[in-house]
Amino acid sequence: MSRVYLSPPHIGEKEQEYVREAFSSNWIAPLGPHVDAFEQEIAAYVGTAGAAALSSGTAALHLALKLVGVSRGDSVFCSSLTFVASANPILYEGAAPVFIDSEPDSWNMSPLALERAFLQAEKNGKLPKAVVVVNLYGQSADYDAILALCDSYQVPVIEDAAESLGATYQGKASGTLGKFGIFSFNGNKIITTSGGGMLVSDDTEALEKARFWATQARDQAPHYQHSETGYNYRLSNILAGVGRGQLQVLEDRVNARRQVFERYNKALGEIEGIRFMPEAEYGRSTRWLTTLTIDPDITGVSASEILNKLTSDSIEARPVWKPLHLQPLFKESSYYSHLEENSVSERLFQTGICIPSGSSLSESDQNRVIDHILSVVKYAVR
Ligand SMILES: *Cc1c(COP(=O)(O)O)cnc(C)c1O
Repeated sequence: MSRVYLSPPHIGEKEQEYVREAFSSNWIAPLGPHVDAFEQEIAAYVGTAGAAALSSGTAALHLALKLVGVSRGDSVFCSSLTFVASANPILYEGAAPVFIDSEPDSWNMSPLALERAFLQAEKNGKLPKAVVVVNLYGQSADYDAILALCDSYQVPVIEDAAESLGATYQGKASGTLGKFGIFSFNGNKIITTSGGGMLVSDDTEALEKARFWATQARDQAPHYQHSETGYNYRLSNILAGVGRGQLQVLEDRVNARRQVFERYNKALGEIEGIRFMPEAEYGRSTRWLTTLTIDPDITGVSASEILNKLTSDSIEARPVWKPLHLQPLFKESSYYSHLEENSVSERLFQTGICIPSGSSLSESDQNRVIDHILSVVKYAVR
């Protein structure tokens, strides 16, 4: 039996053509016409004034933090239920992350926890320099509630939309709700350049500054002159060509992932003790990863037992992100749970799994996944 991957790359038809173009014109550099075009096409797709193509989503997040002025000794609020890359750049700048729990309806940042964190920060006389809000597994967070709080404290929001390109919030593109938004084109994301990222904003001057930092902060001078610390964060013209081809099929990829989810939901959604990540009514999720929780008291099987079953048949599945406030790296960091006595992200971590969700997943492979789950779950239909 062939291996079934969680979220493999899915290449379209135009990518090779763009890459060939880069080769034939000898634009093999971290600059060039595909980079410029990719930036313009992403900005047009999401509806921002501009975009800066970078070597990774992590690099984009790092530069966004620098643009809002995060530096040594500052604190930054950040979603806890996420990949470590959401918080690592906070450490790069010598700042301290403060982790915010999820709320049960979208699994994204809890406005209740955020409010308590702000009240405490105000009491301590030290507001955060930024709030990094993650849009988890392809679904937007609830920005009306989050922005109302952040605006009242005048703290900028950076939207980690690495997993949510193609999603919407009240009709607006995911990634455009905060002061800055970032996307990732890592190999497992909904579209990929093998590795890459994008910073988007309406502040084109800030994007220019990001490009400057990303190109070793080279001053305007005939010789090599530098007055600030720079980075080598630009995206290669070849990879930007791949990205342009991928962007053309993004809507197809979103539809395919949503269809994968629908098939899982039809087969498993009625089973007592299994719950899929809810789709909040304020927008469209891309269903980047189909994710569900299992109540072992009802199904007679735990999340980790299901993972073992799938792995034994070469099916790649994963637990939900381990919340960052539980990571050894962040053991000194503060954390605000959804309710005083209710940590939503911890429960999701204990009971949640992500199952194969690629836009190229065949129905027969998907049936293999479904059959394995049905074979271990003791089920009664709701
Ligand atoms: C993938 C991911 C990133 C990092 O993107 P890279 O391009 O791999 O650096 C950041 N945040 C989240 C939530 C991600 O899933």
